[in-house]
Amino acid sequence: MNPQFSTIRYETRGSVAWIVMDRPEKRNAQSVPMTYELNEAFDLAARDDEIAVIVLAGEGEHFSAGHDITDPHRFEEDERRAGTWAGWDAPGVEGRLAREHEIYLDMCKRWRDLPKPTIAAVHGRCIGGGLMLAWVCDLIIASEDAVFLDPVVEFGVNGVEWFAHPWELGPRKAKELLMTAESWDARTAESLGMVNHVVPRGELRDFAQALAEKIASKPQLAVKLVKQSVNAATDAQGQWTAMQTSFGLHQLAHAHNVLRFGHPMDPSGLPPALRPAAPDRPEGS
Ligand code: ZN
Repeated sequence: MNPQFSTIRYETRGSVAWIVMDRPEKRNAQSVPMTYELNEAFDLAARDDEIAVIVLAGEGEHFSAGHDITDPHRFEEDERRAGTWAGWDAPGVEGRLAREHEIYLDMCKRWRDLPKPTIAAVHGRCIGGGLMLAWVCDLIIASEDAVFLDPVVEFGVNGVEWFAHPWELGPRKAKELLMTAESWDARTAESLGMVNHVVPRGELRDFAQALAEKIASKPQLAVKLVKQSVNAATDAQGQWTAMQTSFGLHQLAHAHNVLRFGHPMDPSGLPPALRPAAPDRPEGS
């Protein structure tokens, strides 16, 4: 029997594991519990010898609306830990740095380096933190209605924590996406090489399953070595080193916003429903 989670579903179809984000009422916004459940599910699939390929998908109308900034658990230490960062509740920049390092940057690195091929099946909106989830997968299949954006410049921040934009879009288009905070459709993402295939919405899951089965039929060590070889190429280009610089600048932006607005994001750019009624943690987190 498949394990039970509260924010995601874990299903197997032959040698393919499906990890399905299941918070449709929140447009699959990634809460801290969801982050840890995703991590557990990826580990489960990676360690199961019967599973050859992993597909990540979303239930409901959208793949993911990003990080759930309304999540009440967001600033609390979760009992499930995946890394060695501590001091999540420390005042000042220290606590936020620790939290975001583990739950965003390090977690994405872990998932990107899973020793099995991963496929993101993206439909509807894929926003900010949702982009991170798609980008850590090896292949991305988008339905025709998929829309991609990273609007965090509107909130006074340089981009989501997993700053893969220059590799996913090319440097010039990455700057345009971020500086304009525009939404780009699936065909545009495909033309930039960010997406492998665009398919009708009704065919997305079958297409992803068929692609996963095709890859699962190949010698698995060779597939694993392909993944490691391509990842090594982007590593050799300095992706991980550059990401740590971008992450540091991301923390600088949060710190500036706290000093300037009493909130880690510029409230004027947040949708009205997400604007804080009062300064949040003015001690500087
Ligand atoms: Zn952040």
